[in-house]
Amino acid sequence: MPTKIDMAKFAKFCKDMGFIYQSSEIYGGINGFWDYGPLGVELKKNIKEAWWQDMVRNPPPGPDGQEIRMVGLDCAIIMNPKVWVASGHVGGFADPMMDCKASKKRYRADQLEALSADAGGKTVYFAYPKGDDEAQKVAGKKAKKANAKPGATVAVMSIPDLIAALPIIVGPDVEEAGTLTEPRAFNLMFESHAGPIASEENKVYLRPETAQGIFANYRNVLDSTRLKLPFGIAQVGKAFRNEINPRNFTFRSREFEQMEIEFFCHPAESMKWYEYWRDLRKKWYSTLGVKSENLVPREQGKEELAHYSIGTTDIEYMFPFSDEPQELEGVAHRGDFDLKAHSAPPPKGSGNDKLNYFDEERWNADSAGRSTNSFKEWLKTSPPAADVEKYQFTPHVIEPSAGADRFTLAVLCEAYTEDEVPDAKGNKETRVVMKFHPRLAPIKAAIFPLVNKDGMPEKAMALYRSLKPHFNVFFDDKGAVGRRYRRQDEAGTPFCITIDGDTLKDDTVTIRDRDTLKQERVPISQVRATIERALTPGC
Ligand code: ATP
Repeated sequence: MPTKIDMAKFAKFCKDMGFIYQSSEIYGGINGFWDYGPLGVELKKNIKEAWWQDMVRNPPPGPDGQEIRMVGLDCAIIMNPKVWVASGHVGGFADPMMDCKASKKRYRADQLEALSADAGGKTVYFAYPKGDDEAQKVAGKKAKKANAKPGATVAVMSIPDLIAALPIIVGPDVEEAGTLTEPRAFNLMFESHAGPIASEENKVYLRPETAQGIFANYRNVLDSTRLKLPFGIAQVGKAFRNEINPRNFTFRSREFEQMEIEFFCHPAESMKWYEYWRDLRKKWYSTLGVKSENLVPREQGKEELAHYSIGTTDIEYMFPFSDEPQELEGVAHRGDFDLKAHSAPPPKGSGNDKLNYFDEERWNADSAGRSTNSFKEWLKTSPPAADVEKYQFTPHVIEPSAGADRFTLAVLCEAYTEDEVPDAKGNKETRVVMKFHPRLAPIKAAIFPLVNKDGMPEKAMALYRSLKPHFNVFFDDKGAVGRRYRRQDEAGTPFCITIDGDTLKDDTVTIRDRDTLKQERVPISQVRATIERALTPGC
C-alpha cells in the first residue's frame, strides 16, 4: 500500500482485526461514525501521544535554533455559542454550497436548476442559478453548441441526485462537465440544548474544531504562564461536523479528533514561523514511517485561500481510495484574524480588549528619553499608532491542524503489506503484515513459550510481567509458533520473543524482527532496552 485497494475489503480487514468497527453496527450502523477496537484504540492513542510528545513536550529548536515554548489545553466541547458567531461559523451560511473548481465561483446547491440534454445518447445537465434568466439562456446556448438535444428543465435536484450527477453537470460559468464540488453546508455544526428546555436561547453547538477553545483561552494562558512570544498552545480533542456525504471509511467522518496548534508570534516573524511549521509537520509524518513519495505538501493557490489566510499548505497523502492526494493536515497562516474577531465589540465578538500582546522587554529596552515608564500613562500622551504597535499588538497565528483519525487511516493504509515468507516446511506462504513504525504499533512485543512445558511458560510469564509496566505486550501460548507469528504480523507487532530450551540454560531468548524476519539471541536482561531503542523518537 498505498496502491489502489478495495476500501470495502480493507474496512473488513480492519474490522476482523479489531482496528475499526462501524459505530452501532448491531442496529444497522450510523453513517459517518466509527469505533476503534482493541488494536485501533492503542494505535490511535500512540499517534496522539507521539504528536503530543514531539510537538508539545519536545519540539525541535525553532528557525534560529531557539527553544520553542509550547503548552497544552483541554477545553470543553460545548462553549458559549457566541464563540461560533465570532469565529464566523454561525452566520448567514447554513446552506449547502457547491464550488466550481474551474471558475472558482460558489453556488447554492438548493438554487441550481439545469437544462437536461441528450448528447449522443448520454444525458448532460447545463446548470444555472434558479431565477437567473440570462444564465438560463447561456445554459441553452451551451447545450446547442454541444449539439445536445434539449430535454426537460430540471428544477432543483435533491442533494443525493445532485451528488450522483456531478460528473455530467456543466456548471453555470464553465463549458465542461464535472467541475462542481459536492454540496457542503457552510455551517456544519451539530446543535443541542444546554438545560431542560429546548429553546432558541438554550441552543448550543458541538465544536466543529478545537482551535476556538485555544483562542478563547489565549489571555488565560498568557496570564497563568507568563509566556513570552513566540509560543504555541496545543490541544487534542473531538470535533463534530455534520458532513453532507461522509465517505471513504473514516476519512470524512461526522465525529473525529483533531490535533491542533495555535502558534502565536510577532507579525514581522510570522512567515518564518509559517515555513518552520509547514516543514516540521511534513517531516513528522516521515519520521513515523510514511514514505515521502506518498506525502504531498500542496501550497494553496491565492484563489483557494480562506479570506483571512495569508498562506496555507495542505499536507496531503496518497490514500489508496483516490487518484488524487487528499488532505491529512492544513498548516495555515491565519494572521491576526481570530484574536481580532474575538476581541471585536459585541454582538460580533466578546469586547475583551486584552486579546493582544504587550512586549514588555522591548518597552523597557526603549525607556531612554521617555518621560514615564508606565505604558498606560504613555498612551495618554497620544503617541502615533505605529509607535504604540511596536509595544502592543495582536499576535499573528500559525495553525498546524491535523486529524488524528485521518492519520490513523493513513498509517493503516501505509502499514498494510502482503508478502511471502517460508512456512514451517520451507514452502512460501502469503502473509499480511502491518508494518507499523514501532512507536505506533498497538502491541510492542509478543512473548511466547516455545512449548507449554519444562518451565518455559513460567519463564515466559515472568518476562511478560516484567515488560508489562513499560509497554503494551502480549502473552501467547496457543498453537504452533508459526501461527502465533502470523497473528502478530497481522496486528503489526514489531517483536516476537520466544522462550525455548536454551533460555532455561543461559537466560537468553530469541527476538524475531517483524520486517526482516531475522531472529537474534539476546540475554533476557537486554530485552527491555532493545524494545526501548526502537521506540525512541526519530528512530
Ligand atoms: P476537508 O477539506 O477535507 O473537509 P478541512 O480543510 O475542512 O478538511 P480543517 O478544517 O482544516 O479541514 O481541519 C483540520 C483537519 O481536521 C483536516 O486536515 C483533517 O485531518 C481533519 N478533518 C476535518 N474534517 C474531517 C472529517 N470530516 N473527518 C475526519 N477528519 C477531518
